[in-house]
Amino acid sequence: MSTPGVLVLIDEPRHGHPDRPLRRVPADEPHILVTDLGITRGDGVFETVGIAAGRPQALDAHLARLARSATLLELPPPDLGVFRAATLEVADALAAAPSSWCKLVLTRGPEGADRATGWAYGEVSRDWPERTDGIAVVTLTRGYASDVTTSAPWLLQGAKSLSYALNRAALREAQRRGADDVVFTSTDGYVLEGPTSTVVLRLGGELVTPPVEAGILPGTTQADAFELLAARGAATRTRPVRVAELADADALWLMSSTRLAAPVRELDGRLVAVDVRLTADINDALAARTS
Ligand code: PLP
Repeated sequence: MSTPGVLVLIDEPRHGHPDRPLRRVPADEPHILVTDLGITRGDGVFETVGIAAGRPQALDAHLARLARSATLLELPPPDLGVFRAATLEVADALAAAPSSWCKLVLTRGPEGADRATGWAYGEVSRDWPERTDGIAVVTLTRGYASDVTTSAPWLLQGAKSLSYALNRAALREAQRRGADDVVFTSTDGYVLEGPTSTVVLRLGGELVTPPVEAGILPGTTQADAFELLAARGAATRTRPVRVAELADADALWLMSSTRLAAPVRELDGRLVAVDVRLTADINDALAARTS
């Protein structure tokens, strides 16, 4: 059996400052009620924060996105100070590992209880050979047009909700097609995001990523990568990307907090060039972040 991770329960985050908001508890014992709406309906939000030698990475951005997702789901605003403290406690307990992660969860709470459920759970990271080996990716439609956030906001596109069954189903479809991962596309022909990652392309000398207005998450890893690359003189741009432009990209990555930048070596069965040096530079810089 694998070693249990580190679990900190966050009590009643919706009520601000209870006497004892954080409680470290054994991670291999039950703590969540079976009536919790996060479990029975996937009604809640989450974040996964990378940790480098005990230092959470992009924590401010993750907390801001947790609050943004809570707003989109009309959950009471999470107490970000308490979630920050919980993340730091988990990170501290995992500080001996060079690389770990912490998942923050906020649910609507047990049915009828009028109190949210929150926790922070962390583990040591696995190795990520994909950073150097690259990944094979297929494009799959998400079934929505790129104006979904305004035409149908109740579909919650752009919120990091707990309802990730669809994202997992898309990954299984990719595996059935012999691939490792997915680039979602919109019905009107735009590139969106991966099921757990942000898409970055190099197009005409620019690093390009699609905008959140297309109904995607603001990626914290992509944002930091763009900042690091811009500081080194690279041109970066956020703009709508047509699916047809994927064929023109001379490099392509899926970026996320734990895997960091995974270079795409095959897209819909077609080989894509991998810029080994730039990928290693991006990953070294991302892994070295201390905040
Ligand atoms: N898009 C989706 C749907 C995700 O689930 C994630 C992360 O899990 C990302 C993008 C990338 O976000 P981040 O770089 O903050 O991990």
